[in-house]
Amino acid sequence: MAITARFISSAPALSDCPRSDRVEVALAGRSNVGKSSLLNAITGVKGLARTSKTPGRTRSINFFDAAGRLTLVDLPGFGYAKMGRTDAARITKLLFDYLAKRENLAALVILIDGRRGPEEEEIALAEAVRGRGLEVIVVATKWDKLRNSQRGAAFRSFEPIGVEPMPCSAVDGEGIEALRRRLVELARQQPIHADDQG
Ligand code: GDP
Repeated sequence: MAITARFISSAPALSDCPRSDRVEVALAGRSNVGKSSLLNAITGVKGLARTSKTPGRTRSINFFDAAGRLTLVDLPGFGYAKMGRTDAARITKLLFDYLAKRENLAALVILIDGRRGPEEEEIALAEAVRGRGLEVIVVATKWDKLRNSQRGAAFRSFEPIGVEPMPCSAVDGEGIEALRRRLVELARQQPIHADDQG
């Protein structure tokens, strides 16, 4: 079943993130990895994540309420070839600041193209989150683009990140329900109180 979702707000800086006592799950990945398509598939709300792509929001952290139980956080895509060095550095800093400091963060979903496998950047994100004892979920995106004969090797190429990937496709729906179930489980985690935040 779809998780109903709606846009809450957009934060260009860490200080703009809304105070919240709700469990938060963030999604991160290179631009073009399929993050918007996956968000739309999980929530069943077509065009939901387009909100994150409107001018002025692509370099921000975008917050979505999921069924009133969980906050899904669309982190800005990194590694965009045409992005200037200053912008790229700003996004990297925003990502790592958010991952290090956000009190109600429960898990990070790292999206990696199934044909590409993890690289240095994705491994660093996983380590930042694991260092806080939080959960890392790795999604291998665009799995429909791999032939059956390529899937075993592609799956094994994820070993360096230390978590088995969940193969997903926004096109044929593979893995979407399994990912939703993981999110629903996370939503059951004990919420923290906004007053406890520093
Ligand atoms: P984002 O930049 O990470 O938000 O990526 P998008 O969701 O906008 O997707 C980037 C491109 O990949 C678009 O052309 C999508 O249609 C395509 N795409 C996204 N997910 C899938 C998928 O699961 N399978 C296939 N074949 N294409 C996908």
